[in-house]
Amino acid sequence: MDSHEWRSPVFHQYSNLALNGMKKKRCPFCTKPLIKKNSREHIIPKWILEYLQIADVKISPTHTSSKDNSIVSKREHVLTNLVSGGICVDCNNGWMSSLETENMGTLKGLMSGSLCLADLNLNQKYILARWAFKTALVLNYGSNFHKNIPLEHFQHLFEHQDSLPARVCVTAYQHQSKGSFDWIQGLPWVCEGNKRQFNKEKTSQLLAKGWKIGFQFGELFLITAYNPFPDCLFLLWRSVLMPLYPSSGTVGWFEKEQSFQEENWKILTELGMGVQLLHKGEN
Ligand SMILES: [Zn+2]
Repeated sequence: MDSHEWRSPVFHQYSNLALNGMKKKRCPFCTKPLIKKNSREHIIPKWILEYLQIADVKISPTHTSSKDNSIVSKREHVLTNLVSGGICVDCNNGWMSSLETENMGTLKGLMSGSLCLADLNLNQKYILARWAFKTALVLNYGSNFHKNIPLEHFQHLFEHQDSLPARVCVTAYQHQSKGSFDWIQGLPWVCEGNKRQFNKEKTSQLLAKGWKIGFQFGELFLITAYNPFPDCLFLLWRSVLMPLYPSSGTVGWFEKEQSFQEENWKILTELGMGVQLLHKGEN
């Protein structure tokens, strides 16, 4: 791939909250105090940057306000410099590095299209979901976007080998598109048709506490989301999104026509709209 084909990408990160400063004195995962030689975790793992040949691609992550589309903050650098400080060496070189190794074969197959999502077994789905969740957390922690992922989610991933936090959902889709990499933080929630339950107050709670992040790696698209309400279920786009986690349990499904545009971020946005919430007992 000629990296020049991938020009002037803009990472759309919608938000209607102000940027929060965060003191990074402890590792968000294991909560150990950081010592002087903290590691800098690559937000997009180095091996993926090399595999997709995008390490030298210039990016300008832009945090856009969803209120008026004004630019809240903007950075410019090459992808290989997209790192997150504040994560301890033990986490970075220990379990995070193992999670990369465990997923490498599956991810290469899914990114290139030589492997289909339907071919994954339960364990492969689960460790891929852990990887997607970890990558979403590290992106949010290290980027110029408001830190809307609670620290408990970081600590849960570190402490629990066999689960993700309650009401986290990871879904995937495979699709060939022009570009090979993109992400969106702050994917929108739609509460249409549900206006009685999703009143103004509940909607603003959802925007403040829920989160939804999409990634594209080659042919693989991943949407990771958190539903903050125990009285709501995920509502997923049937026959498009494959749930990686949870692999069982109750979700709602809805039908929607597929009309993907060419731009990666439009595909990601549309897939993101495929993950919504439904009040229990209402359908
Ligand atoms: Zn740590």
